[in-house]
Amino acid sequence: MKAAGPVKTTCPYCGVGCGVIATPQQDGSVAIEGDPEHPANYGRLCSKGSALGETLSLEDRLLYPEIAGDRVSWDHALGCVAEKFSVAIRDHGPNSVAFYVSGQILTEDYYVANKLMKGFVGSANIDTNSRLCMASSVAGHRKAFGTDTVPGCYEDLEQADLVVLVGSNLAWCHPVIYQRIAAAKEARRHMKVVLIDPRRTMTAKLANHHLAIKPDGDAALFCGLLDHLSETGKLDGDYINTHSTGFEAALEAARALTRQDVLDQTGLADTELETFFDLFANTEKVVTVYSQGVNQSACGTDKVSAIINCHLATGRIGKPGMGPFSITGQPNAMGGREVGGLANMLAAHMNIEDAGHRALVQDFWGSPTIAEKQGLKAVDLFDAVGDGRIKALWIMATNPVDSLPDADRVEEAIKACPFVVVSDVAQDTDTIRHADVKLPALAWGEKDGTVTNSERRISRQRAFLNGPGETRADWWHLAEVAKRMGFTEGFDYRDGAAIFREFAALSKYRNDDTRDFDIGALSAIDRQTYDGLEPFQWPRPEGRPAVETRFFANGKFYTPDRKSRFVTVEPSSREVVNDDYPFVLNTGRIRDQWHTMTRTAKTARLSAHLAEPFCEIHPSDALRLGLRDADLVRVSNGQGAIAVRALVTDSQKPGHLFVPMHWTDQYASEARVDILVEPKTDPFSGQPASKNVAVQVERFAPAQHGFIVSRERPVFGTQAYWALARCGSGWRAEFALSDLTDDVTALGQQLVDGTGGFEPEVYSDRKRGEMRAAWFDGEELVAALFLSPEPVAVSRSLLSDLLGMPHRDAKDRARVIAGRADRAIPDKGAIVCSCFNVGVNEISAIAAGGFCTVETIGEKLNAGTNCGSCRSEIRAILDRHYPIAAE
Ligand code: SF4
Repeated sequence: MKAAGPVKTTCPYCGVGCGVIATPQQDGSVAIEGDPEHPANYGRLCSKGSALGETLSLEDRLLYPEIAGDRVSWDHALGCVAEKFSVAIRDHGPNSVAFYVSGQILTEDYYVANKLMKGFVGSANIDTNSRLCMASSVAGHRKAFGTDTVPGCYEDLEQADLVVLVGSNLAWCHPVIYQRIAAAKEARRHMKVVLIDPRRTMTAKLANHHLAIKPDGDAALFCGLLDHLSETGKLDGDYINTHSTGFEAALEAARALTRQDVLDQTGLADTELETFFDLFANTEKVVTVYSQGVNQSACGTDKVSAIINCHLATGRIGKPGMGPFSITGQPNAMGGREVGGLANMLAAHMNIEDAGHRALVQDFWGSPTIAEKQGLKAVDLFDAVGDGRIKALWIMATNPVDSLPDADRVEEAIKACPFVVVSDVAQDTDTIRHADVKLPALAWGEKDGTVTNSERRISRQRAFLNGPGETRADWWHLAEVAKRMGFTEGFDYRDGAAIFREFAALSKYRNDDTRDFDIGALSAIDRQTYDGLEPFQWPRPEGRPAVETRFFANGKFYTPDRKSRFVTVEPSSREVVNDDYPFVLNTGRIRDQWHTMTRTAKTARLSAHLAEPFCEIHPSDALRLGLRDADLVRVSNGQGAIAVRALVTDSQKPGHLFVPMHWTDQYASEARVDILVEPKTDPFSGQPASKNVAVQVERFAPAQHGFIVSRERPVFGTQAYWALARCGSGWRAEFALSDLTDDVTALGQQLVDGTGGFEPEVYSDRKRGEMRAAWFDGEELVAALFLSPEPVAVSRSLLSDLLGMPHRDAKDRARVIAGRADRAIPDKGAIVCSCFNVGVNEISAIAAGGFCTVETIGEKLNAGTNCGSCRSEIRAILDRHYPIAAE
């Protein structure tokens, strides 16, 4: 244990960038609380952030360097990587190698990776999983502002009178921002929220109006809005004339779209359009928040441009409570953008196409070369891996085999690549299993550096644990390889502070206010000050007082004439479905898992919320397909098929499906949804279209359904379906069999090693085809297994709880076999509040007693009173009991 007392750090999950206080405890655990002084969250944390202390175990960690699966010394591993990259560059040129990095790594890591590839290798073949997250926002910002700037800050979301959420499920994906808006709305009753999203997500609970727009209808909607603002005299002529160019052309293009075009492309009713347009037109303080629903699209940049056009046209930008606001998915997507971690950018917000910028960066680095043109963006990069152009690939802190579109093809490409290095914290991921060289990285709590959140706030991630085994910082991996490739001069860093100093110095180098990103005031920062660095928003130029600021209220953009650019947007219909694949598949996140689950799946608390991959489908579609809730379904298209559980809900529109993006081969048999996503990208940003995919869905009827809880991890092989999650003191799994079995004992022994030495208690109802068995080790439940011709009807939360309880007598054991609650141990139902382990049945019981507010549920059950992430779900449960109170 490194730290003796509380350490202020930053959450490693979403782009909100919440401050966390981590306090190592005597027993080796770590207590986690929100940092009340951090301006991103003022003490709040969501369910994922609150559970950080439960994700720190060394189980599954990669602790030593490996080559071909064998442990080797660091020197050997680094030498091997340096040699393979050097040989590829010598024989095939600099563009024959590539880095694929991540919004999970720290700014210091990112800076060194980018410097090595662009300044020393001489290629721009470095891209990042942030390409999948917010590249369209970057492209939109650069088109309009001449640079990649988020103009506003989180306070704007609280000060706005209208918050428009576009393609953004804040309640689940950025819960602390959701809570901040919810609190502001509660305090300022006139404040309104409009949600624009094809799905009725939990965020709709906060919205005065939900516009269930067609996928990719957003650009048409905001073009229609621009026309409406013009027609109703709401334009800010002074701002347009003084601070922009291109307005007439943008307006003309917007006007070319008839009202009928807008109705057709958005799928909205005329009254819905009017309501939204009038609200926007007549509210001065408007913030438009957008995230993956806008960005992950084949026309994502156009959507961003259409949104920004409306803010520029009304001069509602850079002032308190006003502006377009892109919110990023990852903890350091912004930091990556700042250091030029995308294949089409240079460090410190400089442009790779600009010869002056290239010369400046090369001069500052004293590097032998500089990349002269854009490198390969993520999807193209893996195409180049697949067709043999890339001979050596280094993947850091990300899992492209699961997260990139056409993921099976990406896996084949990685398998075929002559040399693959993976730096990661985890021993087993779907990507690292194909690595020639594995390099063990520091995890959250061990690594030390800076990250930037969605409001341009740079915060320290600090170490409070020692790195286990031989784990090392990502920047160290890179610098040591660079030195072994002969680049000793540029990579002799003593620590992260030295890298940060250099980065800050580059940001001010020949800047003279020509570039927005300037943190030159920190270019001489010493180690001690770096260690104590408080969160701050950039810019922080040298020689000027530190002020937290917004951009662009008074113009001064970063284009050659310092004016903004209206962008001409010409939306068209984006129907993707056809007779073979008639459903629109939308992919996204759930509340309690993060990305490919390498950390969040370690905690039973987070896994209790949604323990299995699922497909949301509208009741009318389910009826037509003969599907019932909890049936298994196969979702497929020409690229592949996945098997997941059906979740029948009217929050989906008919003809539309939603499947989460988290599940990998580590936790489910066939649930990698990105195998279905086409490698179709936005023409400007290169960001894949992950939310508008044509698929078919059908019932998948196995011979038998099964459910198991066990204290040891079950091992699945040829079963037709399985999905595994942690629970209580062990594991739970749903599974299905292609062939009937009546030997429940043998099946249990096959799935769980630990059952072998114990005689099971078996129950069987041959008429209904149901079989159950439970194995006990004294009073302890080893495993309980249930088989049924239909989806198994037992209480998952009860059985998860029973796993950790003593079973002293026949009644206790009978309760396990029954899988049903009784008066002694009631059934909580599916877990809603992960912090206090409160289930839907408990909330419903309180609601049935006449209590209809979220606050009362909190008073009675504690649910929703800690991190608050479940408050919208509690509201939804109450609404089912009290539809009128919900209005
Ligand atoms: Fe972490 Fe949650 Fe804050 Fe995001 S909202 S940074 S996941 S605590």
